[in-house]
Amino acid sequence: MKVLGIESSCDETGIAIYDSEAGLLGDALYSQVDMHTEYGGVVPELASRDHIRRVLPLIRDVMAQAEVSREEIDAIAYTRGPGLIGALMVGSAIAKSIAFTWDVPVIGVHHMEGHLLAPMLEEAPPEFPFVALLVSGGHTQLVSVEGIGQYKLLGESVDDAAGEAFDKTAMMLGLDYPGGPRVAALAEQGVSGRFRFPRPMTDRPGLDFSFSGLKTFTLNTVQQHTVDGQIDEQTRADIARAFEDAVVDTLTIKCRRALRESGMKRLVIAGGVSANKRLREKLGEMAAGENAALYYARPAFCTDNGAMIAYAGCQRLLAGERDAPGIRPMPRWPLETLTPVTDGSR
Ligand code: ATP
Ligand code: MG
Ligand code: FE
Repeated sequence: MKVLGIESSCDETGIAIYDSEAGLLGDALYSQVDMHTEYGGVVPELASRDHIRRVLPLIRDVMAQAEVSREEIDAIAYTRGPGLIGALMVGSAIAKSIAFTWDVPVIGVHHMEGHLLAPMLEEAPPEFPFVALLVSGGHTQLVSVEGIGQYKLLGESVDDAAGEAFDKTAMMLGLDYPGGPRVAALAEQGVSGRFRFPRPMTDRPGLDFSFSGLKTFTLNTVQQHTVDGQIDEQTRADIARAFEDAVVDTLTIKCRRALRESGMKRLVIAGGVSANKRLREKLGEMAAGENAALYYARPAFCTDNGAMIAYAGCQRLLAGERDAPGIRPMPRWPLETLTPVTDGSR
């Protein structure tokens, strides 16, 4: 089965074709970051309009690149939610229109299920069950995963998501949006241990997170070291490093706890922050110490992309699922409400 996937939940238009037999046939991404940078974050109305401009040309590109004709596409998958309502509406309207015109089924995919399953696109994908850490711009969750659609929330952030904390820290350090990769790059030049930020909520039981306090820590440290509106380069880098160390340590402590408490031996990380090199290294070391294995996607499939939507949609389509008429986008949509895929999963 060949599935055309459309991702449009936020500020990137992602298109891909996934084949249940041959794997990924093609994918492309158009990122709107340059357009949103001057506002320091995503402007929803601009995002929707740009998805409209990009999505059809990108679909043509991917079909040409994959050498797949419209007659060969068996179904369409699109991101139904969660995300920005206007952006989701573009993807859903286009997916439904194409599906109607080509007379193929269409399915709305949960964006976080897409992220969670993205590591399945890699060689040596994880087997079920596993513990998943979803770390993205809008989510920080630990999830027990028994199979596709069988998700139990173990813990989540009570305030900011990890990616959001990276983005806000970037802004305080004078770095552009999206800040995660930029903070990570600056932290490379930083000295570990010059500043010590807290590891929030690690001193008590439980698997919840809190990242908003780290923001305040960053802000205070930046202010303490700003003289005449200037902060020296090394201090900026040391602050970035202290922030990154704190987030990475905190996530690692909670992941270890989740593995121990669940007795599982596989840890999957997904979402934009799972591209972070230091996080991957630290979690890799921790997992080795627990006799567990760590899985993640290539960096381009950690952040938003069409491939994860095509893949997740394909699994549900193979099990016979498809959208009922009148299905609408879901800007809010808890992951635990998804239904299990019991059949045909691969
Ligand atoms: P959600 O998936 O929760 O709806 P989103 O789609 O905006 O949110 P993603 O696209 O998965 O989030 O990830 C983007 C986030 O990942 C941003 O907050 C970005 O700063 C962060 N990020 C990306 N690369 C890195 C990195 N190398 N280190 C840290 N953070 C990163
Ligand atoms: Mg994004
Ligand atoms: Fe995302």
